[in-house]
Amino acid sequence: MIILGIESSCDETSIAVVKDGKEILSNNISSQIDIHREFGGVVPEIASRQHIKNIATILDESLKEANITLDDVDYIGVTYAPGLIGALLVGVSFAKGLSYGHNIPIIPVHHIKGHIYANFVEHNVEVPCIALVVSGGHTNIIYIDENHKFYNLGGTLDDAVGESYDKVARVMGIGYPGGPIVDKMYYEGDKNFLKITEPKVDGYDFSFSGIKTAVINHVNKMKMKGETFKPEDLAASFQGKVVEILSKKVLKAAKEKNVKQILIAGGVAANSLLRSELKAKGEKEGIEVIYPSMKLCTDNAAMIAVAAHYKYMYPNGKDIIAGLNLNGKATLDIIKD
Ligand code: ATP
Ligand code: MG
Ligand code: FE
Repeated sequence: MIILGIESSCDETSIAVVKDGKEILSNNISSQIDIHREFGGVVPEIASRQHIKNIATILDESLKEANITLDDVDYIGVTYAPGLIGALLVGVSFAKGLSYGHNIPIIPVHHIKGHIYANFVEHNVEVPCIALVVSGGHTNIIYIDENHKFYNLGGTLDDAVGESYDKVARVMGIGYPGGPIVDKMYYEGDKNFLKITEPKVDGYDFSFSGIKTAVINHVNKMKMKGETFKPEDLAASFQGKVVEILSKKVLKAAKEKNVKQILIAGGVAANSLLRSELKAKGEKEGIEVIYPSMKLCTDNAAMIAVAAHYKYMYPNGKDIIAGLNLNGKATLDIIKD
């Protein structure tokens, strides 16, 4: 079964061809990071326009690389939620045009499920399992049952992890996007420099705004006094605390639910400390920690095609094929997909 994946929920335009939910025949990604960098974040209207400009070319390239034509495509998997509405609508409208013109049914895909299913490409994932979703817009602990039904065990009450990485980096003036830069600086700084108190949050919920503000306050204080600060020390203190909290809660969830695997999903799954620390801690508990290769961590269409494949395999009693009335949704709880 050949699925054409389409992703345009934020600032990456991507189209992929995936066979049987496992074999990536092509996965072309056009990132707009360089365009949005000068604004310090994604500008929605610019993102939509870039998607429109690039999407047809990326389709051609992906089909060519996979050595197929649209006649070979069995299903189109497209991200319909959540994300920037104008950006989502480019992918959704494009998918509908292809569907109508070439008679290919559409399977709408929840973007966060895409991030989670990125793990299924390179690993043998056994459900039930726990997923730690850490991305630019989301931070959740998700339980996936044996029928691939999703349950939200908890999530952030304020900022997403990726968002706080980006904000902390912006205030320190060290570049955009902040995640990879802070990650690198972690190893050059003293993680005990800034004492950050752990927010008291019940169950599997999180709060990152206080941790972010602790860093920002320190920067502002130094600036006011006309003193310099060492971004490496702040980056190390911030990342150390963030990874400690994420690891502690997700391991607790895995033990409570008695699962053998934890999947890390979303852009922050690229974080080197989260990968190594959670993996080491998991090993001690007999829990395997899995994460996608770097290219599959951030937004891409292969993960969307893989998620479409599993939606097809496990419809859970739902009609999974969308009509031409399919719409984009800026927000949508993962359990409502
Ligand atoms: P969502 O998936 O919630 O809709 P998004 O698609 O914008 O949001 P992703 O593309 O999944 O987010 O991830 C981007 C985020 O990942 C950014 O916030 C970026 O800073 C962060 N990120 C990327 N690499 C790293 C890293 N090595 N360490 C920490 N964060 C990182
Ligand atoms: Mg992005
Ligand atoms: Fe994403």
